[in-house]
Amino acid sequence: MRKPILAGNWKMFKTVSQALSFVEHLQDLAEDAPQQVDTVICAPFTSIYALNQLLEDSSIKLAAQNLHQAEEGAYTGEVSALMIKDVGCTYVIIGHSERRQYFGETDDSVNQKVHAAFKHGLLPIICVGEDLDQRNQGITKQLVEEQVRAALSAVKADDVPRLVIAYEPIWAIGTGKTATAQDANEVCAHIRQVVGDMYGKEKGDLVRIQYGGSVKPENIEELMLQPDIDGALVGGASLDPGSFAKLLKGA
Ligand code: 13P
Repeated sequence: MRKPILAGNWKMFKTVSQALSFVEHLQDLAEDAPQQVDTVICAPFTSIYALNQLLEDSSIKLAAQNLHQAEEGAYTGEVSALMIKDVGCTYVIIGHSERRQYFGETDDSVNQKVHAAFKHGLLPIICVGEDLDQRNQGITKQLVEEQVRAALSAVKADDVPRLVIAYEPIWAIGTGKTATAQDANEVCAHIRQVVGDMYGKEKGDLVRIQYGGSVKPENIEELMLQPDIDGALVGGASLDPGSFAKLLKGA
């Protein structure tokens, strides 16, 4: 059985005080939230240390939204896997479409980042997904397969069960348009099959696959009912504690 994982990706939102206030509210609202869902907050780097202090006795885990692949060095403005681990993160998002689109990330840099994350005991949440043009061309599965294969190049089989893959169709991010639950499941099932082809069915069956793109309290239940969708990576609807608490209940 795969444990569902709900992750809120705050992107470039919230100061430290706003981040702390969110968590205090969430803890009040979701006191009796089911522990059978892994709950993750993907916060800006600036808030992670303070959040980690507040979440010491909590089951809520922290993620960074990016990392640099090098161990350390003269890379002004970048943050390494060791630093992210040190400050209290369990997970790290890698290859979000906004990083690919605005910051020049490629399948190759995504792969290097995945290796850096595993080396330091961080669990990668690898993002893949097609844009509208690619969807209209009917090449979604092929493209997502290429992204998954590239991201996992030379990744050891033992690390595979610790992976999370997020299928986020770019046209569904922040647009209010969601893939239908069936469509989303079909692509997630294909991703599982690709991991199974690479590492064996048993490993494929262990990988948790999230859907992301305009997930809201109103649509999360239907998405979570799909057999190959193990959770959600949520942007806009994760910014408000009330909405996040509802997502948790629905997950
Ligand atoms: P929205 O939920 O705002 O569409 O964002 C999805 C996303 O990009 C999460 O990483």
